[in-house]
Amino acid sequence: MALPDFTLSAGPVTVSERTRAALARPILYHYDPEFRAGFVRTQSKVAEIFRTKNDIILMQGEAIVGLEGALRSLITPGMHVLNLVQGVFGKGTGYWIKDFGAELHEIEVGYDDAVSPAQVEEYLDAHPEIEMVCLVASETPSGTVTDVAAIGPMCSDRGILTYIDTVSGVLGMPWETDEWGLDLCVAGAQKCLGGPAGVAMISVSPRAWEKIYANPAAPRDSYLSLLDWKEKWLGEGRFPYTPSVTDMFGLESALDQALEEGVDAVVARHRSAAEVTRAGARAMGLELWAVRDEIASACVTSIRMPDGLDNAVVRDHARAVYGVMLSHGQGAGNLVRLSHMGPTAGGLHSIVGLAALGRTFADLGAPVDIGGGLEAALDVLSAQSA
Ligand SMILES: *Cc1c(COP(=O)(O)O)cnc(C)c1O
Repeated sequence: MALPDFTLSAGPVTVSERTRAALARPILYHYDPEFRAGFVRTQSKVAEIFRTKNDIILMQGEAIVGLEGALRSLITPGMHVLNLVQGVFGKGTGYWIKDFGAELHEIEVGYDDAVSPAQVEEYLDAHPEIEMVCLVASETPSGTVTDVAAIGPMCSDRGILTYIDTVSGVLGMPWETDEWGLDLCVAGAQKCLGGPAGVAMISVSPRAWEKIYANPAAPRDSYLSLLDWKEKWLGEGRFPYTPSVTDMFGLESALDQALEEGVDAVVARHRSAAEVTRAGARAMGLELWAVRDEIASACVTSIRMPDGLDNAVVRDHARAVYGVMLSHGQGAGNLVRLSHMGPTAGGLHSIVGLAALGRTFADLGAPVDIGGGLEAALDVLSAQSA
């Protein structure tokens, strides 16, 4: 099959030419002074986009490696953990929490909705035994966000640790690790940053380290170990294992581009692209998945399937017939996702995605107002640039 003309998926995303050029750099030995210096520089650039003074750990592997390693490091048997569930990643975190031996508490809402700060506050008031709150900042499979700006400080004020999957959150929404008192955050390079898949970026607060050091079950001498990275690399300048040299070149380049554009500007670009996309989808006559615009993510717009259509069939038709790779619901529901993530947040990308999606619906027997939708989206885009 030919390559797609446009990849408008929810990660891995299309990367810029500059990032691709960085990924083509010669391989260096990992103890080459040039590589080591680059690794240290990259850590501080990650700290800048996270807005933190906390330690940054760069684990080599999909963001999942960081998420699992961090959770295993923090959880002690019998510990009471409150998990917020509004989508498939949150649900999965709960399985881990139980599996690692903690007492699982959950607040769960529909996957088109978001857990509210008031629900969390009420639960914490009634359950003083909770030691940690786990949440997913941006539920990519359903395109909803959690109010981390409210829930983070609420936990921090009560001395409750926070473990946050912000894999598609950082750069796709305002993010203040230190100001919000967030203890452990994990982001991925292949989402809003527009970097390579295969690197997990993790911030760890001093409070989280205390908890990890006090935990005899925290992985050591393991691919999942945060402590190995802290002690061997941050402490002694020895890598626990050979980093993925190429991915690190790509990551630093993507970070440079984000920092040159400005963190706030990148976040605003995602928000603007989401506004264009939502306006277009609505004017086409499509129904958005998120129950309220305030909880709709800025990096991906989820759209409910018209009656009788299957999300994977829609995704495959847009790819096969129009050369546009969209994302399906990935188990979150019968929805299709039009992403505006990383380099595809902005410009005409959303217009292309809307055109492919609208015509796909029409081809499959669910007619929509394609022209009206594109015009509405272009109106918003034009007004934004005015
Ligand atoms: C992408 C993503 C992950 C990482 O999952 P993969 O299946 O490895 O891509 C984790 N959490 C969220 C919210 C994500 O968007």
